[in-house]
Amino acid sequence: MAGAKRTSKSKKASKSKKVSGSKRGTPAKAGAAAALREYRRKRDFRKTSEPGGGSAAPRHDRLRFVIQKHAASRLHYDLRLELHGVMRSWAVPKGPSLDPAVKRLAMQVEDHPIEYNTFEGTIPQGEYGGGTVMLWDRGTYAPDDARPGEAADAAVRRGLSSGKLSFTLRGERLRGSFALVRTDRGPKPKWLLIKHRDDEAAAGLDIAGALLTSVETGRTMDEIAADADRVWHSNRGARRARPAAAPATDGTIAPMQPTPARTLPDGDWTFEPWRGGTRALAWVTPDGARLVGARGDDVTRRHPQIAAALAALARRTGSAFVMDGELAIQNGEPTFFAADLLLRGDQVLLDRPWTERRAALAALLRRRRVPGVEWQETVSRGETMLRRAADAGWPGVLARRADAAYEPGTRAEGFLCIT
Ligand code: MN
Repeated sequence: MAGAKRTSKSKKASKSKKVSGSKRGTPAKAGAAAALREYRRKRDFRKTSEPGGGSAAPRHDRLRFVIQKHAASRLHYDLRLELHGVMRSWAVPKGPSLDPAVKRLAMQVEDHPIEYNTFEGTIPQGEYGGGTVMLWDRGTYAPDDARPGEAADAAVRRGLSSGKLSFTLRGERLRGSFALVRTDRGPKPKWLLIKHRDDEAAAGLDIAGALLTSVETGRTMDEIAADADRVWHSNRGARRARPAAAPATDGTIAPMQPTPARTLPDGDWTFEPWRGGTRALAWVTPDGARLVGARGDDVTRRHPQIAAALAALARRTGSAFVMDGELAIQNGEPTFFAADLLLRGDQVLLDRPWTERRAALAALLRRRRVPGVEWQETVSRGETMLRRAADAGWPGVLARRADAAYEPGTRAEGFLCIT
């Protein structure tokens, strides 16, 4: 319960006090320039489209943070916290976790310019950090332990130099209180990133594995990499998430993806949990089953029991089928939450309305126990499901329009993810 509601005073404090700049009271801009020396030394700005830094940073009364997913020589997530005109940066190989039992290694790297916060694109191969960068999350943060009258940035600096910073993120994806704890000094200090226990904590949820698209453009890493002409941009303003290209699975059907939404839709819809897992299709015959993720990745070998149980169901019922669902962890076990039925025997259901596909799925699963597979429940009242999601710590709720067809591989209008 610690930390979740401790931030209002620090906002006021940072507004009323001048930002004091670098360590010995030099102006913030000169301090930032010194802090960025290492960042600039490593980059050839004739070759990379990353920002050089040094333009006057607008004064904000809130400290910003970003997390960028970075496919360099090794995939990692860069956590960046604004402080004194630069972004303090940590490379987190496994990404952030919402599970308080999980401690994630975070290696401190050189400070980055604030303009880097909007960078999404590809750094040329051969350049420092070459690879694809995705804006994975962004928002503001505040220290949890500011003393009375202490400015937010001063409290952050005090925490970092003491080796323990408690801070609360208000991002589009990550929220709640976290700690950075230094475990090793040296040229590249090592820290641990740990979620505090609060209302935003979610045990067993792999949020980095679950959320695979850009918070800015809705693109996957592959789509960013394929879009070579698009470089970093500093212009503000809401960009519409572009529809994702249909990823191939085995040349037939890719899972339909929900369109992100903030509010409950009007009309005839049903609502179901989104547990933060991944959408997958199960291709099942009496001889065996294949589980295919949203990117066309075959995940069968990670879930052999689920695949075997589905194949047994096809043997019992005497027909092949293709099922859509969510792979998520329930009570510590991987579980396939069956939501939709696309094919059964020689029946193609893709163009049938959701209610009809749903009835066919019910007929297939009715009174049959399939270990590792659960019936994805739905309700007709969105508020009810939102409340349950909040109680259970799920990241959101999925909504399906009653008359919508299944649209493989796209963000469908009749299929929403409300967060
Ligand atoms: Mn990086």
